[in-house]
Amino acid sequence: MRDPHRQRAWQALGLGPLWVPRTGDSTAQVVPPALPAATTAQTPIETTPETTVPAPHQAAPSGLAVATAPGEALSGGSRDERWQALRLAVEACRRCPLGESRNRAVFGSGSPSARWLLVGEAPGREEDQTGEPFVGQSGRLLDRMLVAAGLDRERDVFIANTLKCRPPNNRTPAPGEIEACRGHLAEQIRLLQPDIVLALGRPAAQTLLQTDASISSLRGKVHNWRFEGRTIPLVCTYHPAYLLRTPADKRKVWEDLCLAVDALAAHPDASGPPVRA
Ligand code: URA
Repeated sequence: MRDPHRQRAWQALGLGPLWVPRTGDSTAQVVPPALPAATTAQTPIETTPETTVPAPHQAAPSGLAVATAPGEALSGGSRDERWQALRLAVEACRRCPLGESRNRAVFGSGSPSARWLLVGEAPGREEDQTGEPFVGQSGRLLDRMLVAAGLDRERDVFIANTLKCRPPNNRTPAPGEIEACRGHLAEQIRLLQPDIVLALGRPAAQTLLQTDASISSLRGKVHNWRFEGRTIPLVCTYHPAYLLRTPADKRKVWEDLCLAVDALAAHPDASGPPVRA
């Protein structure tokens, strides 16, 4: 592999020629495949028809933005005030039993003015202890993915989760918990106004797109996602924790990341950073 950027990206994801198999993994590929077609500017980005999320006042029992969103009570304040109020609301939240079992609520981290919003599933053990998202093993893989895409975790992205509190034993979020937490995520999106959304894993993808479709059918394309009157490109991909178990699928995640980078570059407001390394 002669292209140093490409080489760095593959190595950051653990895919390069220097890749060392993790214990017990004898099946993962050692030779990196060619970069996906999505990395070339000429390649058309596959998009889906608009996926509509109802506005806050519409009857939308399963919508992302619901009438009980925290922002409604705070809509008179400045963006900063609403952001701070939301953080406090999340930290004090008792909308579901996870509010009692958690150690710390995990609001999210990164830049509130970032163009990228990453949405994960729910805090794990280390996140529950630190109050920060993606700081455990899957977080370290996510960090490498971001580096490979030329993104700075503090400056270029905001990282949130579908649930703000850890489900016991890291079990999959229950529908009622997702429902209870929906308003927090909706208010985050309302205030962040991201230009690209990356959904990490099935619960995030299904919650945002309001679908029961599988993650494998949702990934690999750019969804034209409707959120309160805006159309935001949204890309779904596998969760880093899944990749730790199935490293052979890192290539697909890299393709999805490239799709998202290209979708942002094609965005009408494509003025600022980041660009892929
Ligand atoms: N997995 C997630 O989905 N989110 C985190 O914050 C950590 C692990």
